[in-house]
Amino acid sequence: MPLLVLLALLVLCAVGWSLQAIYQQREIAFRHQAEWELQAINQLQTKSVAEWRERRWSDAMALSDDAAYAQAVARWLAQPTDAQAAPVLNRLRILQERARYSAVHLVDLQGRLRLSPSDGAQGASLPAPDLQALQRAIAQAQATPVEPRRDAFFAFPFFGMVAPLYDGVEPVGAVWLVSDVRATLYPLLHDWPTPSKTAESALVLRSGDAVEFLSPVRQRGEDLLPLRLPLRQRDNPAVQAANGERGVLYGRDHRGAEVLAVISTVADSPWLVISKVDVDEAFGDVRTREWLSLSLPIVLALLLAGLVAAYWQWNAWRRERALKTNLERHMRWLENGQRAATIGYFAYEPGRQEFLMSRMASQIFGMSPDRTMTLRQWVQLLEPDERPQVLATHQQAMQQRTPLHTQYRIRRAKDQQLRWIQVWGEYETDAGHDDIARMTGTVQDITARKQTEQELAHYRAALEAQVRLDPLTQVANRRALDEAVAREWHRSLRSGAALSLLMIDVDHFKAYNDQYGHLAGDRCLQQVAQALAESAGREGELVARYGGEEFAVLLPECDAPQAQALAERMLKAVRALDIEHSAAQGRGHVTISIGAACIHPAHAAAATASNRPSATEAAQTLFEQADVALYAAKKAGRDRAVACAAA
Ligand code: GH3
Ligand code: MG
Ligand code: MG
Repeated sequence: MPLLVLLALLVLCAVGWSLQAIYQQREIAFRHQAEWELQAINQLQTKSVAEWRERRWSDAMALSDDAAYAQAVARWLAQPTDAQAAPVLNRLRILQERARYSAVHLVDLQGRLRLSPSDGAQGASLPAPDLQALQRAIAQAQATPVEPRRDAFFAFPFFGMVAPLYDGVEPVGAVWLVSDVRATLYPLLHDWPTPSKTAESALVLRSGDAVEFLSPVRQRGEDLLPLRLPLRQRDNPAVQAANGERGVLYGRDHRGAEVLAVISTVADSPWLVISKVDVDEAFGDVRTREWLSLSLPIVLALLLAGLVAAYWQWNAWRRERALKTNLERHMRWLENGQRAATIGYFAYEPGRQEFLMSRMASQIFGMSPDRTMTLRQWVQLLEPDERPQVLATHQQAMQQRTPLHTQYRIRRAKDQQLRWIQVWGEYETDAGHDDIARMTGTVQDITARKQTEQELAHYRAALEAQVRLDPLTQVANRRALDEAVAREWHRSLRSGAALSLLMIDVDHFKAYNDQYGHLAGDRCLQQVAQALAESAGREGELVARYGGEEFAVLLPECDAPQAQALAERMLKAVRALDIEHSAAQGRGHVTISIGAACIHPAHAAAATASNRPSATEAAQTLFEQADVALYAAKKAGRDRAVACAAA
């Protein structure tokens, strides 16, 4: 992107530079055009002004050179009659009419006006400048001009020319030729061939340390003549002209406006013609037009660039929106899927100590759905007794960078319910960094599953117990007895303690059944079993129904005398039940007979072929011996306990 911007800037710079170059070139061309135009007008005007002055010179010189005319004048001066005056006046009249002089006077050597076709001011004296010119003309024998000026003598500004007259070498007088410059000279400068508001020409000459205007300038008006500018105003074109500058130049005129000026000298005179035009007028329009025509492509280019940028932006925005919609749809699917599976996901950032959670995860933890949870909040949710262990599990997974798979209980924030949750997590690091950036994973509420599992476990345990229980008497059954014998035998082997077994048989039970019925027999069996179980209270002692009306009692860590003692207690307990049994021979109540057996691991090893008798072998020995003893008890008259002789 920055590269693109740089490129665009470069292109803009290049375009700007070339436009600037084009503009400059065109401006130069326009300037040349304007300068050339002004110069052409200036030259034309200068030429006509020169002709105008030349014409006055030649009139004056023709008079001075005319010896016959000088003699006619001398004659009239000597004898001033009308007849003598006629030829003198005639010549003057022709001159005045043909050359459009405002006044033509014959003056004498003292400067008095003597004769004129227009017949006025006879006898008056020449104004001072003209009088000086007359004296110079007589002295130098040459026609002498008096530069245009205003004077009380005439009502108009005028240019005077004094032509001296000589009769031979004797001066006789002079002819004073007066031109009204307003009528004859100014139009030459003021007639402008092109329509312009500020263009004009002026006639100036240097006079001392100032430059003097001989013609009016438009903004001043001729009444303000003579306009004199001190030579200090160096950038004024008139001053520049007085200082010797010629041709095209730029400067500020007496108004302070910037002007383009052309300066020419009028041949054979001190006159300078200055033509000038305001720069604003000469180039203003052109500049505006140029700027407009140049700025148009720039504006168009900018507009185009703006359009391209806007299109690009719009496209990017559209793409982004499509991506966003897509992403939102996927997120929705994911959320729905997770809700269906009651799985939430989370990301934990150790740096911020904060969990970012999906809606489902927030719900599982019972948090408000703002979807964040601090580490502190999470720790508070853990069950206090499990807290250290849960934290240790997380710590370990984080240190070893192993996936986290754990289950723990929380108090759900919103209702303080105890819930089981299962967490699967993975640790992630950012590219180029070793530190763990975050853990992401899923969290699932598994409380229902846990409850089912627990119920199943209970059920299984109950079932297990059931399998090992005699349904009628509620004491252990034969299977439980066999397992216990094997288990306790192994324990005896390890501890070296004796293991005893009592075999118990209800006396004359067939007769009891016959006498009282089978149901009463069952009840009797239940009572006997109860009495036996109550007698055997020691840890590990097991009372089992061996089959029919026979019971067995397994006595771990019990030697023969202890077994005998217990057997006696059991006989007593059954007697104490005092269950009527009229069919029992001589006794009148239910009794039992007991055969006791006892094996010591050490003795048993010696007695058997193998060094360590197996559980089966040991059980077999125990049961056989107890059986033998029981048989002996029966034989000896019942209601007694007999210990196995081998024990
Ligand atoms: P002895 O004193 O020699 O032991 O005489 P006895 O009658 O007890 O001898 P025997 O072993 O022959 O009789 C066992 C009787 O126990 C047979 C059977 O009817 C009865 N019996 C076995 N199991 C049950 C039972 O579950 N319920 C009842 N009511 N009677 C049973
Ligand atoms: Mg029996
Ligand atoms: Mg019996």
